[in-house]
Amino acid sequence: MKRRVLSTFLMFLTAPMVVQGASTSSEDIAAAAKAIQLEDVRAKMFFLGGEEMAGRLIGTPEHRVAAAYIQSEFMSLGLKPGGDDNTYLQGFDVVSAWPDESKGTVLEAAVNGQRRAFQLGHDFNPWWVQAVKSEAFEGPVVFVGYGIKAPEYGYDDFAGVNLHGKIALVLPREPQADHENSKFRGRWDTYHSYDWFKIQQLQEAGASAVLIVNPAFQFKEARIPSAPPNYTLPEPKRGMAAGLWDFPIFMITPDTANFLLSAAQKTVQDLQAQIDGSFKPSSFDLPSVTVRLEKNFKAHELIRGLNVIGIMEGSDPELKKQYVVVSGHYDHMGRVSGRLYAGADDNASGVVATIETAQAFVRAGIKPKRSVVFACWDAEEEGLYGSYYYTVHPTVPLADTVANINMDMIGRDEESLTWENTAEQNRNMVNIVGTLYNPDIRRIIEQENKPIGLKLDFKTDTRDPEQWFARSDHFWFATRGIPQVLFNTGSQPDYHTENDTWNRINYPKMTKIIQLIFLSTAQVANEAKQPKFTR
Ligand SMILES: [Zn+2]
Repeated sequence: MKRRVLSTFLMFLTAPMVVQGASTSSEDIAAAAKAIQLEDVRAKMFFLGGEEMAGRLIGTPEHRVAAAYIQSEFMSLGLKPGGDDNTYLQGFDVVSAWPDESKGTVLEAAVNGQRRAFQLGHDFNPWWVQAVKSEAFEGPVVFVGYGIKAPEYGYDDFAGVNLHGKIALVLPREPQADHENSKFRGRWDTYHSYDWFKIQQLQEAGASAVLIVNPAFQFKEARIPSAPPNYTLPEPKRGMAAGLWDFPIFMITPDTANFLLSAAQKTVQDLQAQIDGSFKPSSFDLPSVTVRLEKNFKAHELIRGLNVIGIMEGSDPELKKQYVVVSGHYDHMGRVSGRLYAGADDNASGVVATIETAQAFVRAGIKPKRSVVFACWDAEEEGLYGSYYYTVHPTVPLADTVANINMDMIGRDEESLTWENTAEQNRNMVNIVGTLYNPDIRRIIEQENKPIGLKLDFKTDTRDPEQWFARSDHFWFATRGIPQVLFNTGSQPDYHTENDTWNRINYPKMTKIIQLIFLSTAQVANEAKQPKFTR
């Protein structure tokens, strides 16, 4: 009681909205969760996910307004700046460029002197996320199996091969994918299987270019969209200015790969069967093969990506040196072909949840033992750039980061052909993604959900055909062994269409999800032990 009186007194001395308590009592935390109000959630969604924000496309004025709005909310809550140079913003360069059609995109090969020029769009495609600069490379090819080094499963495609100055040819996904008893965690695809991480590993091992065998070039639509959908942003193309994926990466068909592998009298199918059957890598040089790749861009422009980051310091003298990152991306698609992609569910919802979670702590004077970082990522739609940049240039030490709680699309009711479910069945459902690695976080979320009563769905921990595990910003935390979780209400017909608007959100459910996120964050930040990452 005394603490409360003191808090009220201090409140007038400092920021008017902020209670300067340091409560970690469970009654206070429960009351703070209940104080998260539907009307407030909806009001923030109206602004951030509304028409005036014009879809928050990176490089547009509205995108800057969105960043300023988030920053202003963090300021009013008295969060500490968590960006560059004591500001709330962490900037990074994004390059815009247009493909140079006159010079084109080239893939050619010579196998034992026999030359072949491959056809763009038919035999190969550039990977959708890579540096948007003109690059050409010609060199020998090395087959590197799945391109995976996973000591935790006793598997290493990189052993015994030298990738320096060579083009790495790799299979998609991971050994024994879709096998019930796969040594790589059954039918679930681990982070090793995803191109983002695989390419990074190949680059670090010295490869000069990458060819990934991909049976299906195009993203397979597993739903019937309510209006023309957009998955790739309008041109110009945008890439990170430095570092990541800064070399040519092409996806090739199995037929294209088989032409290259014919030099060793092998095929994709045989190699895959051999590796999956024996669980032994089979990597080898293809000395009689030379491949040339080329991509061309023109008219480069530099734009600024901006992560918005605020920090609430913990109350325990020791544990406050550890951090829980609560996050969601704020960028979206802008206008494409005259249609406005407002991105209310994707992902104004996750940003509003981030702000509301911070607000619930601050207004009730709850100060958990660990510090909490509130981060709104930029350029997620371009290819998870903002969160990638953060994990390479963290503003608090990654080694002291104990968890990432990420939200991407938490406002709708899943209606998915993949899962054969209907919106009606999912009015109270939220997917909890990625807890196979993070059983402690799963336990906490299940426990904290008891008073809230949402239907928690862990289906993507068994099988993840829509690849939610790799489709948002928590992914980078997983690749660094940091416990993470994604809250997500799934795919539905309005996803990435002009119908993803603020008035179509299921607000009673979204409010409950935010309450659960707040309670789970408080618990992760307060528990004596930090959550484990279980490979
Ligand atoms: Zn999103």
